Amino acid sequence: MVDPPATRVAFGACPFCKHGVVWGAPRDHMGECRSCGAQVNRTYVADRLLDKLSKSEKKGTPKQLSRECAKAGIRLPAATIRTWIHQKRLTTDQHGHVTLSGIVPLLRRRAH
Ligand SMILES: [Zn+2]
Repeated sequence: MVDPPATRVAFGACPFCKHGVVWGAPRDHMGECRSCGAQVNRTYVADRLLDKLSKSEKKGTPKQLSRECAKAGIRLPAATIRTWIHQKRLTTDQHGHVTLSGIVPLLRRRAH
């Protein structure tokens, strides 16, 4: 049996060039920029990514925000967001929506 080729995910924007995106295998610590070829540590990219997300005005249901995070290269299951709401670490508005910027501090804590 042959393993399927490893799926590559975007870790985030390259810190060394303007429009580069760092890609790597989902469990890798290091990724490579497709534009300049720089080897970039995933946590470094993730920090910058979280800075960007923390300024986001986006809000939505746990499922929608989980999808937003996936687009940004962060794996955050909707169930985790629901757990945070349940633990009152996140507050929802009257529609049951949470803000993307609100989950960033929790994501940061999870990463360390
Ligand atoms: Zn680059």
